[in-house]
Amino acid sequence: MQNPLRLLTTATIVAVVLAAGVGGFTIWRVYDNQRLVSDSYDTKAALDRLLSAMTDAETGQRGFLLTGDPRYLEPYERGIASSHEALEYLASRTAADALRPARLDELRPLIDQKLQELAQTVELRRTEGFEAAQQIVRTGVGKATMDRIRAIVSGMDRDEDVVLSTRRVQSLVSLRTALAAETAIALSAIVLVGFLVSVSRRRDAEAAERERIALRLAAIVESSEDAMIAKDLNGTITAWNAAAERLYGYSATEAVGQSIRLIVPPDRQHEEDEVLGELRRGEFLTGFETVRLAKGGRLVDVSLTISPIKTAAGEIIGASKIARDLTPLRRYATDLEHKVHQRTSDLQAANARLEAFAFSVAHDLRAPLRGMHGLAQALLEDYGNRLDATGRDYAQRIVDEATSMDVLINDLLAYGRLSHVELAVSAVDLRDVLDKAAYTVRDDIQRSDGHVDIDRALPVVEGNRSVLIQVFANLLSNAVKFGGDRPRVHVWAEMRGPRMAHIWVEDQGIGIAPEHQERIFGVFERLHGAETYPGTGIGLAIVKKGIERLGGHVGVESQVGRGSRFWIELPRAEAA
Ligand code: ADP
Repeated sequence: MQNPLRLLTTATIVAVVLAAGVGGFTIWRVYDNQRLVSDSYDTKAALDRLLSAMTDAETGQRGFLLTGDPRYLEPYERGIASSHEALEYLASRTAADALRPARLDELRPLIDQKLQELAQTVELRRTEGFEAAQQIVRTGVGKATMDRIRAIVSGMDRDEDVVLSTRRVQSLVSLRTALAAETAIALSAIVLVGFLVSVSRRRDAEAAERERIALRLAAIVESSEDAMIAKDLNGTITAWNAAAERLYGYSATEAVGQSIRLIVPPDRQHEEDEVLGELRRGEFLTGFETVRLAKGGRLVDVSLTISPIKTAAGEIIGASKIARDLTPLRRYATDLEHKVHQRTSDLQAANARLEAFAFSVAHDLRAPLRGMHGLAQALLEDYGNRLDATGRDYAQRIVDEATSMDVLINDLLAYGRLSHVELAVSAVDLRDVLDKAAYTVRDDIQRSDGHVDIDRALPVVEGNRSVLIQVFANLLSNAVKFGGDRPRVHVWAEMRGPRMAHIWVEDQGIGIAPEHQERIFGVFERLHGAETYPGTGIGLAIVKKGIERLGGHVGVESQVGRGSRFWIELPRAEAA
């Protein structure tokens, strides 16, 4: 916008100067032409004067010749004087005018000759009388001279008429040209000035709008809850809002003009160099958590957002810094953490109470269940032959149900025990654990015609032997149960860094959908009915509880129809 406006202003000035110049020149031309016209009129008047002066002189001479009265000599002499004066005037015009000097040269001797003839006759009349003078007049020389003079003067007058009419036309033309040029230039100057005024008005309006926006922004910055600071690329503070005053304790007057290092603790000065470097490269910084130094040495935790300030041309000239005081946030987070901690321990206590209750119920159910199982067994054995087929079937079903309930109670007790008993942790060789676990599930393996392949390179881990046997027995049992026809199970270990071991139990069975992979580790969480896959839904809960109590982790990777890989992570004993 700057350049077009300057161009427009220059064009306007040039147009106005041109208008003045052309105006002056054309007016001068008009004036000059007018002067020439009036010169022509003067020349014509002089020619008239010359002729009438000559006529006056002749008339005076005739009167004196006839009467001898000296009063006639007065117009005679006035005529001579006037004719000299007119002749001189005409002579002075020959240079500037169209008057031809040749004509004047022809005229001058004729006039002299005529005046001489007049003077001679006057003299003769005075000295010798009327007759002597009359003789000269009668020769007719004087009349012929006068006729010649008249012819030349009227020729000169006609010449001047031609000049005059040319000058008149020129004068008119130059007047019209002047008017046309003046009008055109004046109009274009008016248009340019109008345009200039409208452009400068628009610029004024834009500047006013910019100022309004700037004031509104300034009000927002000033009323912001966050500290806002501007600095130049040397790190000198250029703006400091009210929130910055509250946060850092320095007033704007104290801070502006100072280095930003004023609020950077001595051990964090290097941060300022890094920040300045990033700004020069035009980079932004958001959520940069650090510590700043308030007036009086107080340290404040802040989160900084730093952005470069650019000119309209994109040149980086400084940075804006928004500092959020993290103290209230930190306080809030601590409160929240405390509350969560409190709730978690309440929940854990309630859970523990519930588990203890379930444990004691399961324990108390065991004795009557054993009684029922034993009595049903005795009924079958001792009185079986007295019962009909239906009676025997009922008795057998009591025995079966009591057996599966016993399994369930045993599982629950095992799970409950994991929550309550102290677990002694020592170095446990996983090769031994896996052998024992596989032995526990040997019947299942045989029944399903499956195969369990246990890698011999298993580590020694920090754990509890009986818990780990229980854990791996559950995983192997599941791998065989859900491993499809003739299940193939593979167990191996992977070392994760110097401290941890990952043990994998992999099958190629039915797999688990992703949405169930977490919940199957909960108590009684089963994905199938007891008819398809028998079980209690406690096995994986025991796995998770046992491993977590030993300080490890458990998880699964699986795809439906493509098998599952359960993993257990435990600290390695060798590394301890
Ligand atoms: P249970 O085996 O007695 O049903 P678990 O707690 O051991 O109970 O397992 C919970 C559920 O997780 C099982 O019912 C089964 O749906 C699923 N599951 C466990 N292991 C596997 C596996 N290797 N492949 C597929 N599904 C499995």
